[in-house]
Amino acid sequence: MENVVVIGSGCAGWTAALYAARANLRPLVLTGRQPGGLLTTTTIVENYPGFPEGVDGYELMTRMQKQAERFGARAQFGTLEAADLSARPFALMVDGERVKAQTLIIATGASHRHLGLESEHKLENKGVTYCATCDGALPMFRDRPLAVVGGGDSACEEALYLTRFGAVVYLIHRRDSLRASKIMAGRALANPKIKPVWDSVVTDVLEVKQDKVTGVRVKNVKTNAESVIDCAGVFVAIGHVPNTQLFKGVINLDANGYIVPKNGASTNVPGVFVAGDCADHVYRQAVTAAGTGCAAAIEAERFLAALSQ
Ligand code: NAP
Repeated sequence: MENVVVIGSGCAGWTAALYAARANLRPLVLTGRQPGGLLTTTTIVENYPGFPEGVDGYELMTRMQKQAERFGARAQFGTLEAADLSARPFALMVDGERVKAQTLIIATGASHRHLGLESEHKLENKGVTYCATCDGALPMFRDRPLAVVGGGDSACEEALYLTRFGAVVYLIHRRDSLRASKIMAGRALANPKIKPVWDSVVTDVLEVKQDKVTGVRVKNVKTNAESVIDCAGVFVAIGHVPNTQLFKGVINLDANGYIVPKNGASTNVPGVFVAGDCADHVYRQAVTAAGTGCAAAIEAERFLAALSQ
């Protein structure tokens, strides 16, 4: 029987594990399909306090894991397939294996949002990608025109990173101003290799028949004019969707699928706590995820202490 099972191994998950481990609860961390979470796919993290020169996202997550493990946290490479939260101990199914848990901390984060085009789906990993850091250096993108879709910090970061490899980087955004923070937007727009394509949406990724990306068809939303931009890669950076599908109907979710926390880090199910991006569509920062991870672990510890009184 586990005292605390943490679902997810991003900033929120490992911080929850650190605090639970230091409370002698020997938490079990289910890593999910992407150990370390989305931060492992980023380059340099410049806004995590304590790293004046910035820190590599993968390194930051590896350090968080090591720190939690030093105090007794345990990592299990596995994915939660089902959770019966109708009674405690909670019954979890993890890659076909049953795990019983007194408390649960949901830190499942969020995944990349897709454009929703059939051609996007068909050409995924054939020129369509959701991670410049992971795929940008591939030979197929070297010295070729590339396209990034989106107008937030992620899109700017991806576009800037891709200027190392691509001949030119088109930044295709559906409005005429970026949502990104001033510093990121300024850097992107000042880069001579980045060409913004304003007021435009991608309506098709070309060319499914050739089984590779040769360009994108875009529509100007103000004029309805359509055009084709030649490119060898499409990097989609249009935000995220919370990984909460498994909890639908049991844990209270908002209209967009984000968990609705109760009194801080609790949920509507006693003994189930929440941390990080799966409950946060507002801040979505590494440091806020870590902060809520801490809060969730403290709540879990208090819950367990109250049970044993
Ligand atoms: P975001 O801020 O939600 O931006 C998503 C962008 O995609 C928006 O510009 C949005 O357009 C556009 N978009 C959404 N759906 C679309 C669709 N179906 N078709 C076309 N465009 C669409 O997401 P994010 O950039 O991933 O950032 C998420 C959070 O992480 C933010 O809080 C951000 O500050 C943070 N972050 C920080 C850094 C950093 O500081 N270095 C790096 C990455 C992310 P509209 O603008 O019109 O809504």
